[in-house]
Amino acid sequence: MESTLKRAWAEIDLDALAHNYHVLRARIGPASRFMGVVKADAYGHGAAQVSRTLEELGAEYLAVSNLDEARELRHAGVTCPILQLGVTPAEQTALALVNQITQAVWSEEAALAFSRDALRAGGRLRVHIKLDTGMSRLGFPCDEARFEDSLEAICRVCALQGLEAEGIFTHFAVSDEPDEDSRAYTLLQRRRFETMLQRLARRGCVFAIRHCSNSGAVAACPDYADDMCRPGLITYGAGRQAEELGLRPVMTLKAVVGAVNQLGPGVSVSYGRTFRTDRPSRLGVLPIGYADGLHRSLSNRWHVRTPCGMAPIVGRICMDMCMIDLTDLPQVKAGDEVEVYGLRNSVNAAAAAAGTIPYELTCAVSKRVPRVYRRDGREVARELLLRG
Ligand SMILES: *Cc1c(COP(=O)(O)O)cnc(C)c1O
Repeated sequence: MESTLKRAWAEIDLDALAHNYHVLRARIGPASRFMGVVKADAYGHGAAQVSRTLEELGAEYLAVSNLDEARELRHAGVTCPILQLGVTPAEQTALALVNQITQAVWSEEAALAFSRDALRAGGRLRVHIKLDTGMSRLGFPCDEARFEDSLEAICRVCALQGLEAEGIFTHFAVSDEPDEDSRAYTLLQRRRFETMLQRLARRGCVFAIRHCSNSGAVAACPDYADDMCRPGLITYGAGRQAEELGLRPVMTLKAVVGAVNQLGPGVSVSYGRTFRTDRPSRLGVLPIGYADGLHRSLSNRWHVRTPCGMAPIVGRICMDMCMIDLTDLPQVKAGDEVEVYGLRNSVNAAAAAAGTIPYELTCAVSKRVPRVYRRDGREVARELLLRG
């Protein structure tokens, strides 16, 4: 559906994406492939545009978290290899084959089912073995107690017909945390990963693509780059480490001031009456609310950037609107653009104020918020995800 804009929208700066890609590419070195992690609609940025841009820039691989996301990318014309990081039911194997999707394999049981269904479909499913070195999520367990069993199981999986074991990987739990304890844990995970690779190699199981680095590891441990890296968040210029590496925010969430109201002192504002004016006040009404992805937990805790300075969000954020205090910014008027977060109003600080992580804020930008893509300083595309 076409968007009429001028309510609330997310500007997606493809030049910033390119900048970040080049910085990260230089960081991981020429021997390591770049896997763009574009799950969850590219962290809310729009998977089709982001994926096409990353592919154009030279990313060798993309990663998603379910088969529908993978199919969306194929539908958008993406031709590079795509790894499905999450669980795919075995009965979807044929669909994965048709779409040329690489599948993560997290257990022998799953591998047997994929193998059987791939043979039935007359194909060979490309897979990456997933090792659980400390996330306790998906993967062959690599703790001491279960290490040998996993080693044997992976050797059997590698011999299965109908599967092509192209890669092997693991995922870090705290690689983005700078404290001693977290660094020691990341090192433990890395050791388990390396040990498993060595033991597998001795058994004749070698993999073309070994990978473990998420954003945290790309930033903190570039020597873990191996054959491929999987940076997600920092590619979008979000998170503390993105700031430290000089990466640029790709998304800027914007809204226009819809109306301006004059209120006397002692007047309550919005649901729950959590804010009361303590002086004659000028309040702006923004047509953006929690249904657009502006977390309600930011009520009375965040500020938007107006052309004349920061204005605090006052009172509860409603479903479709919120109020900002413009008393000290008399020049701001209806129709002015404000930045809710992004380039000059950090999403990292907004996430901290909301008691969450920047991932959750960008992912929350909802389908009724048009994405406006900019490249070379001008608008190149616009998307609205509403049915119509
Ligand atoms: C989401 C995800 C990533 C990317 O994580 P970031 O913290 O955004 O860099 C990498 N690998 C796996 C397995 C993931 O699920």
